[in-house]
Parts: sequence; C-alpha cells; structure tokens
Amino acid sequence: EFDVVIVGAGPAAGSAAIYAARKGISTAIVADHFGGQPLDTVGIENLAGTDYVEGEQLMANIQTQVEKYGVKVLTGQRVEHIAKHETVELTLASGDVLKAKTAIIATGAQWRTIGVPGEAEFKNKGVAYCPHCDGPLYAGKDVAVIGGGNSGIEAAIDLAGICNHVTVLEFAPALGADSVLQAKANSSANITLITNAATKEITGAGRVNGLTYTDRTSQTEHHLDLEGVFVQIGLVPNTDWISAPLEVSSHHEIVTDARQATNVDGIFAAGDCTDSAYKQIIIAMGAGATAALSAFDYLVRTSVK
Ligand code: FAD
Repeated sequence: EFDVVIVGAGPAAGSAAIYAARKGISTAIVADHFGGQPLDTVGIENLAGTDYVEGEQLMANIQTQVEKYGVKVLTGQRVEHIAKHETVELTLASGDVLKAKTAIIATGAQWRTIGVPGEAEFKNKGVAYCPHCDGPLYAGKDVAVIGGGNSGIEAAIDLAGICNHVTVLEFAPALGADSVLQAKANSSANITLITNAATKEITGAGRVNGLTYTDRTSQTEHHLDLEGVFVQIGLVPNTDWISAPLEVSSHHEIVTDARQATNVDGIFAAGDCTDSAYKQIIIAMGAGATAALSAFDYLVRTSVK
C-alpha cells in the first residue's frame, strides 16, 4: 500500500510525484504510458525559464527526475475504476487492485480530431490544436479554425491578433459561441466566418497548403489557400473511467477546489482532466504540485495507517 498513487503520467502527474516524493511519502505513478500530450508536441516555447524544449525531451527529463526520487513508476497499466473505502482502491485493466491512502488523478485530456484526410498526415506540419501554444508559429499567415463554438471563436480572436487572416469554418447553420464572442469576431476585419461548412480535406505537400470544404446549403466545393489549420472541436477529458460519487462537471471534467481536492476525501485531481480554466503544461504542473501538497497535508491530518 502506497501513501499516494498518482494516476496518469503527463506533466501534472510528474510534478505531483516529485512534490510527493520530496515529502518522504511512498509514491507510485500508474499510467498506460509515460509522457501524456507533450509527446505529441514538437516545440514547447511557453514554459517559463525554458526557452525551447521538445515535448519528448521534457517528459524524459521529468521521468528521470521522478525516478531519482524513488517513485515507483508502473506503466502499461490502465486504471478502470477508483473507489474510496478505508483506503483508495484503484482497479487496473489487468484486474489487479492497487491500494493507497490517497490518490491524485491526472489522466489528462485529448483534443477531438475531425478525422478528414490530411489531418493526421499534417499534424504539427500546419495542423494544430492549441492556439496558445502554436499561434505564434503562424504570425502573418493565413489560417483557418475548424469549429465555431466558444473555443473556436476564442481561438479565432486570439489568432486574428497574430495572423494575417483567419477563416472560421462551422459545420452547423449557426455558430455555437457566446454572443459576446461572436460580436467580437464579427467586428474583426481579418476574421471571416463561414457556417454550413463541412471540411472535406486538409491539403498540403509536406506542409499544409489549404483546405477543401463543402458548402452544405449549395453542395458546392470550395478551396482555401492556408498555411495553418487549427482544429477546435473540443477537448475531451480522460475521465470515462470515473463514476459517482466522484463529481464531474457537465463537460466531464473532475471538479476540484483551490487545493485540488475532489468531493471525495483523500482523492485529489490535477491537470487537463479537471475543471481548471486553462489547459497548459505549466498550469498542469502547478496543479500537480498543489495536489501533492494537499495529499501530504491530508495524510498528516488523518490517522489513516
Ligand atoms: P496529459 O498530458 O494528457 O497526460 C495524461 C496521462 O494520463 C497520460 O500519461 C495518459 O497515458 C494517462 N492516462 C489517461 N487515462 C488513463 C487511465 N485510465 N489509466 C492510466 N493512465 C491514463 N501546453 C503548453 O503549455 N505548451 C505547449 O506548447 C503545448 N503544446 C501542445 C501541443 C499539442 C499537440 C497538444 C495535444 C497539447 C499541447 N499543450 C501545450 C497542452 C499540454 O500538453 C497539456 O495541457 C498537458 O499535457 C496536460 O497535462 P496532464 O498531465 O494534465 O495530462
């Protein structure tokens, strides 16, 4: 039985493990693989103090640091259930049950993909998912945003300040974003909003050079010349394995308080799987640290042995 088991092995989990282990409590990480979303990232340029680091390198550094502190790293393991009785019990896909006095859930999230030809092929070569991360790479260029919900319109407004021109493509007859955001986008000279647009293909040669869509009202096909396409059709938290009484929001994000505590005593959560306002590496790391300190505090205050 561990003092704390951390589920997941992305930036939130890595940071939580370092903080927990440095408190001298027995700590384990259990995850399907070590690395999380940064493994899909080429260059990270918004981590304070680190001018540039590749995602794989960052996570390899974190793994080395975690292992230096004696954290037990169990990879190749999917957690399928969490329950709190006397202790926290984590059921693995293998059927094994891991017990711990406390747990930190840091299972992250994944961007919903649109699944059209060219998307996978040009990922990181013009196809992007994170405007905060990759927006500056498209300074002065023409880009499209797929998705007219809040995240799509926020991305378009954000990118309009950096890029030459932004075209938003929304599949439905109307944008789903809040009216304030729509009004702001409508008043931007370099944003074009297109509704009823079914993206058919992201085109390119080595890198993205455009996008083809079908106008669903006229059934006509159109092509846009572009250097970047931001897919903004949702970020899905990896929380499908979580069930009541653990509280999740209407977006299936784990609800946490300022100490990263969930509604279940002794279970904490951090990073992209939670209802944190923004989903970024530095934010996930900060939340992971908070969760670990809170778990330590919980262990000190409770007599769980
Ligand atoms: P994740 O990184 O998603 O890690 C989750 C971990 O949980 C993984 O190890 C996964 O295998 C594991 N897991 C999930 N479910 C289970 C389960 N049931 N059982 C066991 N293990 C499980 N942010 C920046 O700050 N800067 C950037 O430049 C940047 N660029 C990005 C580029 C791309 C292409 C993407 C996709 C994201 C980018 N982000 C960037 C966002 C950043 O990667 C995330 O905010 C961050 O990784 C969240 O960390 P996390 O630890 O919460 O989750």
